[in-house]
Amino acid sequence: MNILVVEDDSVLTDGLQYTLAKSGYSVTCAKTGHYAEQLLDVQKFDLILLDLGLPDMDGLTLLRHLRHRKLALPILILTARDGMNDRINGIEQGADDYLTKPFELRELEARIKALIRRCYGGFSHLITVGRLSLDTENHQVLADGAAIMLSAREYEVLEILMMLAGKVVSKDRIAQRLAADNSEALADNAIEVYIHRVRKRLENYGMVILTLRGLGYLLEIPNES
Ligand code: CA
Repeated sequence: MNILVVEDDSVLTDGLQYTLAKSGYSVTCAKTGHYAEQLLDVQKFDLILLDLGLPDMDGLTLLRHLRHRKLALPILILTARDGMNDRINGIEQGADDYLTKPFELRELEARIKALIRRCYGGFSHLITVGRLSLDTENHQVLADGAAIMLSAREYEVLEILMMLAGKVVSKDRIAQRLAADNSEALADNAIEVYIHRVRKRLENYGMVILTLRGLGYLLEIPNES
């Protein structure tokens, strides 16, 4: 997967380049809109990360140019602007998703994966942490290659923990995730109950979910052995 990062902030592009390369993406950076257009003339990319505040043109202008050229690749807008109008304009002009700065690189990675999945079908729908794999397309959990059964909500809890493995995931965030998929109201201690059940299911596979009191939960990334 070739990603074009159109962004003039060197600190951010360095971070993006490092993180995304580590995850197996090939990353090219353009610090201006014009350079991005030149690159797109000669190279094939699978996804664009587009900053709205570029030194030589507005990112939305570049977005219009790209869509005008009938470039079908997914575009994720990175914006420091918090205005609702910018987001709506971006989406209206053909962006597929947006992320407001500052953002967590892990969050960006999760968005990239989701976008790739949406645009290129089955690609990259597997999340693997330790001996556990998640098939996010079929909502299946595999431990050492064999399916383990979880309820829909247990699956959702596990998916968010795995997407953000090694990071603290707040209880609120898990609650939001469950609320988005389900109309049934959550009981007060529901998250604790789901975490407890998922934890039990995973312990045989050396996977540990830590409870960080007052902060949330964290799925440990096991040391490679
Ligand atoms: Ca900028």
